[in-house]
Amino acid sequence: MDKWLEAVDSFLKEECIPSLHDFNLKSNSYSKTGYEVKRYIMPKTIEQLVSIIRFLRLNEIQFKVIGEMTNILFLDSVIYGTFISTKFLNRISFTEVNCSVEVGKFLPDLVREFAMRGYTGVEGLEGIPGGIGGAIFMNAGAYGYTVSDLIDRVECIDKNSNLIWLTKEELEFAKRESIFKKNNSLIITRAVFNLNIGDEKDIYRKIETYHIARHSYQEWVYPNLGSIYTFDGSVYDQLSKSRKIFRIKFFILKFLFFNKLIRLIRRKNPSNRILNRLVELDCSFSEYKDLFSHKNLNTFLNKNYASHVLLSFIFRLGRELGDSAILENEILIDYIYKIINQEEYEKCMSIIN
Ligand SMILES: Cc1cc2nc3c(=O)[nH]c(=O)nc-3n(C[C@H](O)[C@H](O)[C@H](O)COP(=O)(O)OP(=O)(O)OC[C@H]3O[C@@H](n4cnc5c(N)ncnc54)[C@H](O)[C@@H]3O)c2cc1C
Repeated sequence: MDKWLEAVDSFLKEECIPSLHDFNLKSNSYSKTGYEVKRYIMPKTIEQLVSIIRFLRLNEIQFKVIGEMTNILFLDSVIYGTFISTKFLNRISFTEVNCSVEVGKFLPDLVREFAMRGYTGVEGLEGIPGGIGGAIFMNAGAYGYTVSDLIDRVECIDKNSNLIWLTKEELEFAKRESIFKKNNSLIITRAVFNLNIGDEKDIYRKIETYHIARHSYQEWVYPNLGSIYTFDGSVYDQLSKSRKIFRIKFFILKFLFFNKLIRLIRRKNPSNRILNRLVELDCSFSEYKDLFSHKNLNTFLNKNYASHVLLSFIFRLGRELGDSAILENEILIDYIYKIINQEEYEKCMSIIN
């Protein structure tokens, strides 16, 4: 066994920090991508998280902190080294004015914790399947709500492995942006949210509405990572920006098939098949037609594809969408312990570069 793995294992044993060896990513990641990670570490307390991070940094061992993995696409041609999962860090407490929540709390659970107590302001986040840490990292949002809306301050581990608090101003929140995206030495541990009392019926109605909307508009059948790219408007609006003929056809199809009446009739099973077909024809996209959702072109489908197949679609779509579209899904090309399929790995890297 490698020396660094032995050192990590003995530290974890000494500190009673749970971990798994050769953790299967293909089965356990949200997108069902990847192969394995050598050590999957699951601290039970923030103190344990700080101590393992301090140890890894002192020993110059690279690590990746993860939540629910709902925004990460893993390569199947490599074995990754060390992941730290925050899943067990999910304690929550309330005072009269605020709520303190640990980083691993599942976002839909936080929304229910608020609803149970009659607090409003997070309802639109109910269906985002990530943890608080991943959500703060990218300022996740939906239906006009973002996770940063009610944040008062966030506790994190700094580059010297000390716990510090950052105020909302210091967190540099913007659309799908935060300080944590720019500075990866900062590890989120806890967040404090302000509380606003709402109307119980109104909270209930909103959560129900957003839940139903997600179930009809979101891809549920094949594993995916939600929206691949971020931009203003729909993916078809974005494609229209630089294509005049496409734009005209898009408006005609929208008028014919996506007017109020048709949307009402098809509300239980909405689909964008017609618009996707337009993209297939006008953007020479036919070879990718099995790779995206009929609900949304901006969502890939994993039908047990090799990583390079998914990447070829993601990067081709990116070229079509133009520079103003920001890649939201993260493709994990670092923290690699070993390449196990050189040919597949090189295919992936040639697409990414
Ligand atoms: C079906 C589906 C629907 C989705 N809908 C939405 C949506 O409506 N809106 C939206 O914004 N997103 C959406 N997403 C994307 C995703 O769920 C969110 O971005 C979520 O907040 C990610 O959280 P996570 O715990 O899964 O993070 P992960 O995927 O595990 O990690 C994401 C990034 O955050 C970093 N990170 C995680 N924890 C920490 C930490 N403690 N400290 C520092 N960095 C950390 C990781 O290193 C990684 O870089 C959707 C995804 C899916 C699969």
